[in-house]
Amino acid sequence: MTVHAVSKPLAGRVAVITGASSGIGEATAEHLAGLGATVVVLARRADRLRDLVTRIEKDGGTALALAADVTDAAAVQAAADRVQAELGGADLLFNNAGVMLPAPVEERATEQWQQQIDLNITGLMNVIGAFTPQLVAAAAERGVADLINTSSIAAQNIFPTFAVYSGTKAYVSHLSRHLRAELGPKNVRVSALEPGIVGTELQSHVTDVGALEWLDGSRQAMEWLTADDIAQAVGFVASQPPRVNFQQLTIMPTAQTS
Ligand code: NDP
Repeated sequence: MTVHAVSKPLAGRVAVITGASSGIGEATAEHLAGLGATVVVLARRADRLRDLVTRIEKDGGTALALAADVTDAAAVQAAADRVQAELGGADLLFNNAGVMLPAPVEERATEQWQQQIDLNITGLMNVIGAFTPQLVAAAAERGVADLINTSSIAAQNIFPTFAVYSGTKAYVSHLSRHLRAELGPKNVRVSALEPGIVGTELQSHVTDVGALEWLDGSRQAMEWLTADDIAQAVGFVASQPPRVNFQQLTIMPTAQTS
């Protein structure tokens, strides 16, 4: 193996990262670019994406910013068409944009239910729909492609007042298992990442007082994961030899018990 293959294992690959304007997506874009991938960063805040591209390019990487709302299927398809036209298609998709808005179900925060379902499920599917043809084509040509979906430990564990969020993440994990069975024979690896608590902007959108108190207590009680911890895991999963598919990866803060 050459030194280049070790230090830049993703050289020649084109990675699309959703939710790249902050938190896990932003850290992962920087990390994958450092591993040699050309990264396409996608989110709604164009200014944040522009700053990220500038940083990546300053470090010697290659990046393209595509501002889009993933709940808008036409906008996502237009982004995919640009990736095809300008970069020849994606062979790595980190499908990561998401929102967490816990609240007791009896409060009937129906707008927040809808927001989570629209982004975490419909948005995720819009991205899968638009980019899967590129992943399948890349895998046929190069022998491997990656679809990595960000789920959560909430897909498996029970957190009272997080029912809707947890339901959307259970969808992501179970969908990923099914897609792995469907796309694995076509050399597309499918993985679900299930992080425990990570310090990002995710917590800043929470409005429910009880959930905010729970989060504050958790932050005092333990050291949370960082976005870069998750970025490292994504880089690890994508750098495996083509025969190796991490189906599901649970990453916990050491002191988090459930
Ligand atoms: P952040 O809030 O920092 O990041 C969320 C990202 O999603 C932002 O870049 C945001 O950008 C983007 N986004 C939101 N709405 C849309 C939209 N409609 N269209 C396109 N992009 C959108 O949180 P995290 O980095 O923590 O979250 C990333 C993923 O990790 C989520 O799926 C989350 O559920 C999951 N997760 C997070 C954990 C944590 O503890 N932080 C734990 C387990 C899983 P913009 O506003 O510019 O569009």
